[in-house]
Amino acid sequence: MSATLILAPGRERSVMRRHPWVFAGSVDRLEGRARPGDTVLVQAANGRVLGRAAYSPASQIRARMWTFDDVSVDDAFFRRTVSRAVEQRRELPELAAEFGPAGGVRLLHGESDGLPGVITDRYGDVIVLQITSAGGEKWRLSIADALVRATGLTRVFERSDSDVRALEGLEPRCGWLVGDGDAPFPVIAEHGVNIEVDVAGGHKTGFYLDQRDNRRLCGELSAGRRVLNCFCYTGGFSLHALAGGAQSVLSIDSSGPALETARRNLSHNPALDSARADWLEADVFQALRTFRAEGRKFDLIVLDPPKFAPSAAHARSAARAYKDINLLGFRLLAPGGLLMTYSCSGGVDPDFFQKIVADAAADAGVSAQVLRRLAAGADHPVGLAFPEGEYLKGLLLRLC
Ligand code: SAH
Repeated sequence: MSATLILAPGRERSVMRRHPWVFAGSVDRLEGRARPGDTVLVQAANGRVLGRAAYSPASQIRARMWTFDDVSVDDAFFRRTVSRAVEQRRELPELAAEFGPAGGVRLLHGESDGLPGVITDRYGDVIVLQITSAGGEKWRLSIADALVRATGLTRVFERSDSDVRALEGLEPRCGWLVGDGDAPFPVIAEHGVNIEVDVAGGHKTGFYLDQRDNRRLCGELSAGRRVLNCFCYTGGFSLHALAGGAQSVLSIDSSGPALETARRNLSHNPALDSARADWLEADVFQALRTFRAEGRKFDLIVLDPPKFAPSAAHARSAARAYKDINLLGFRLLAPGGLLMTYSCSGGVDPDFFQKIVADAAADAGVSAQVLRRLAAGADHPVGLAFPEGEYLKGLLLRLC
């Protein structure tokens, strides 16, 4: 008999709208016993059953909904949910290439795929699983088994070492979950560009698949331009810019290891002209100020900083940092220049981000146009009931 989590009166509305998080403040009481990750029945104060969730006593998100329907949460549930997520992606023409042998694709996107705290990326023949919830932790072997069945692949590497696990009372874990061998470095082909992924040591699951289509767009816009790629990580935007015929590409990151991989990535693409690429290990905020003092100009600038605001509580300080780099970016653009600017902060929504960028342009004394609003690709869907899932937003701007 599973335990029952009973919500306080009037606190059922968000779950009834199918939002997957039950906050501690909405809970009246737990009837019965439940350990971290156990499945509990969720009930409104009036006794109405709202679904089943994973209980997490250590977290402010006290429970995460697995289902809003009257179904059991068991191995078959995870097989169904995982195979549906994989099939839905496989059916999309724009992701067809990502299911080839050198594809890179997100297979499970957490809450938006009905699997709170469960992320899965596939790089070539390696599946990388990242668990950040107590419920995901309890079912990790079932989820890994379901992934193997759904993909026909045989190796699953676990990258459950994100800091947010501490909020759920979970220890970090990193290593093979299915299959074994040395830590892998698969090389994926992203819209024709080869990119090595450090599955064990890279950021997140090794790479930022969410920017795949934006990197291609950068390539399409780069012909003949002087490109500046800020926060370049392993050089994704830079490689696409070179492939697109950029006149020069200067890439900046503060991480030495990321830049080493970036240089290796260039050698994985022998057709690209490495003489046009420069790599700078530096703090972007300082480097842009130096360039400004030197009077340097660029025709296309990419700003893809790390998450300045993990939650809404950090939005104000994040806004200052976003404004600062965008202001510097505008000042370094040549007339008619293009700016691709992003925020991957969950605490900054698209409208707020656009307002910050508009303030930066105003302070820089420039006029600019929005050519496109940018987001993650179709393998990072956003649940309509879960707007928090839209963490990545960007703007393509042109200086008038
Ligand atoms: N655009 C990349 C992803 C960027 S992730 C891609 O397409 O793959 C953010 C990067 O910013 C990380 O590589 C991190 O090392 C770097 N970074 C964080 N703070 C920085 C700073 N102040 N100056 C320079 N780089 C920084």
